[in-house]
Amino acid sequence: MKLFKTFLDGLRRKKLFREFRTLDSASDHSVQVDGKEMVMLASNNYFGLNTHAEVVAGAEAALRKYGAGNVASRLIVNLKIQDELEGALAAYKQKEACLVFSSGYAANVGVLSSVVGEDAVILSDELNHASIVDGCKLSKATTCVYNHCDVAHLELLLKEHVGKKILVVTDSIFSMDGDRAPLEALVGLKNKYGFILMVDDAHATGVLDTHFPEIDICLGTLSKSLGNQGGFVCGSKDLIDFLRNSARAFMYSTGLSPASCGGALAALSVLDRETEMRERLLEHVVYLKAGMRKLGLQVEGDYHILTLATGTNEKTMKCQELLEKEGVFVTGIRTPSVSSPRLRITAMATHTKGELEKALRAFEKIVSVVR
Ligand SMILES: *Cc1c(COP(=O)(O)O)cnc(C)c1O
Repeated sequence: MKLFKTFLDGLRRKKLFREFRTLDSASDHSVQVDGKEMVMLASNNYFGLNTHAEVVAGAEAALRKYGAGNVASRLIVNLKIQDELEGALAAYKQKEACLVFSSGYAANVGVLSSVVGEDAVILSDELNHASIVDGCKLSKATTCVYNHCDVAHLELLLKEHVGKKILVVTDSIFSMDGDRAPLEALVGLKNKYGFILMVDDAHATGVLDTHFPEIDICLGTLSKSLGNQGGFVCGSKDLIDFLRNSARAFMYSTGLSPASCGGALAALSVLDRETEMRERLLEHVVYLKAGMRKLGLQVEGDYHILTLATGTNEKTMKCQELLEKEGVFVTGIRTPSVSSPRLRITAMATHTKGELEKALRAFEKIVSVVR
């Protein structure tokens, strides 16, 4: 169809056409692409829990007991393992209650489209995740965007809307920049102005958990550091009862699969027990960052997500290609997905020293491209 062709030709011309890079293996610290072994540096699976023996066993046991699918909305069929998972997540996030959604995307859309109405204002960080942006679009509230992590700008907007019902929403660790929201300052503003504070912890779960009692709506995903699938919201019992009765992305969608529930439950218990995983992850990040800097690559990132500015979309894809040739799987992120083109580089706790050394040897090949 001409409509599609014009659109696709435009993407190709701008070097923005996207294709799959397909793995013949699990998305582990090392992966198979077209029969070639590659070091995975493009993962959100920071602890490698998707292939952890206990996680796989947890998923398998739930699959055998409850079958493959929940096969209905949870308002019709609710499996005990869903309640167990929600109990474990609420305890983990130190909140009264929890509701699990089929994805983090659905959780954001479900919450934002239901908790505040047309009389309210949503104040949203400009670099918030696309699922927050889409949730705001679906909400009847007015959305105002504040400059990234800019507390002074946020306060200006709070003053402007004083007297109205306000919800402030932010990622805690930003997925494409790797920086952290000024949560302490947001809590301070909340105490001063009084608003609903919603924090999306998708990239922080297990890595840099934030347990502020002032956070009213704590959102997370089971699909990143927990290595499974699904999203969740923790908060007061009233909030969760409200969402169960009004979040359409929850009510009109089939419950999470038993295997995802069982896998996530096991992942939570592994994470709780194996605290050294977090230290290993951060050691690996420091090692990569220092090694890249030594090569002259100005890699940025204070936590576990590293970014390297590449200048242009074309150079971004050139870097991705060169790294692929060297057996390193890194994803180039182009504009307009992000404000400036970059490589997003994430280490895993399960990488071996040899894999990280291989990655650094590969990064040497892109020095001349990035300069
Ligand atoms: C990945 C992500 C989501 C979506 O979670 P899924 O479970 O993948 O749908 C939501 N918010 C943020 C900040 C994310 O990074």
